[in-house]
Amino acid sequence: MKRFLALLLTALLLLTGCARQEYLQEEIFCMDTVMSLKIWGPEEAMDGCREALYGLQNTWSATREDSLISRLNRGEAVALTEEERSLLEKVEALSARTGGAFDPCLGALCEAWGFYGQSYRVPDAQQLAAALDESKWDMGASIKGYSGNVLVDILKETGAERAVLNMGGNVQTFGEKKDGSPWLVAVQDPFGGSGYACLISVTGTCAVVTSGDYQRYFEENGVRYHHILDPKTGYPADSGLASVTVVCRDGLTADALSTALFVMGLEEGSRFWRESEDFEAVFILKDGTVCATEGAQVSGCEYEVIRR
Ligand code: AMP
Ligand code: MG
Repeated sequence: MKRFLALLLTALLLLTGCARQEYLQEEIFCMDTVMSLKIWGPEEAMDGCREALYGLQNTWSATREDSLISRLNRGEAVALTEEERSLLEKVEALSARTGGAFDPCLGALCEAWGFYGQSYRVPDAQQLAAALDESKWDMGASIKGYSGNVLVDILKETGAERAVLNMGGNVQTFGEKKDGSPWLVAVQDPFGGSGYACLISVTGTCAVVTSGDYQRYFEENGVRYHHILDPKTGYPADSGLASVTVVCRDGLTADALSTALFVMGLEEGSRFWRESEDFEAVFILKDGTVCATEGAQVSGCEYEVIRR
């Protein structure tokens, strides 16, 4: 009997040992994309991150009637919290820094192309001019990156050890890997291949954010119209790039810059990088060439190095 009990106990221990996962994992649909949250930490870290994401979506969405953004766009008088005011100021500063390539007030243009509610259409010249004239907030190019920053604060507050948060093309790492090796972030193949285009290594807490022409688009008469718009022309940016990935300690900056660099293209984007010190970038050209700034830790593909 004793022997039987000992065996039973061992079996139970083995079973519970197998069942106990080291991390928490959850997939949620938020901000129009599937997000995957992997957290080595307490339940309250996961709960806090999930709630914060839904809250940020409800506040900053351009398509929800009751969001802060919709109320601002309708011209309602809104009392902003300190955090809201600060974010709007930060995106305005990033717009100025990028010479307007990242423009958080392109809402009317996104609407004219039917990117809200997937009622896609190619606007005529008059509609384009009218949309370019109108200033409406759209935080689509920056809110996921900003969310990364908010989640990092929650992870710190709740005592999480490490995390990998994938917010649809926006990857936010937190903390160090257990074995001390760097996090490896795969950059999606923009040409639809099943594998990745390249891998980027980062250490500690970092944002790796990709903007690409494959992420949202429609086709009309054989032409692809994607969702990253050039504020100068009103048309989808046609800068010779298929995607740009930005590596930066700050999530908001990473997100705004990935969009801006996509609009700028390789040459102007490289120049912009040379004048900056807070990020690295990986450009994938439409012909498949990969070009990476010299500080980016790239592997898994052949690439050209962009030097200072
Ligand atoms: P991202 O995927 O971060 O590059 O952001 C693209 C989204 O941001 C689009 O779906 C639009 O909502 C919005 N957007 C498009 N073009 C721009 C632009 N040039 N600057 C800022 N936001 C933009
Ligand atoms: Mg962006």
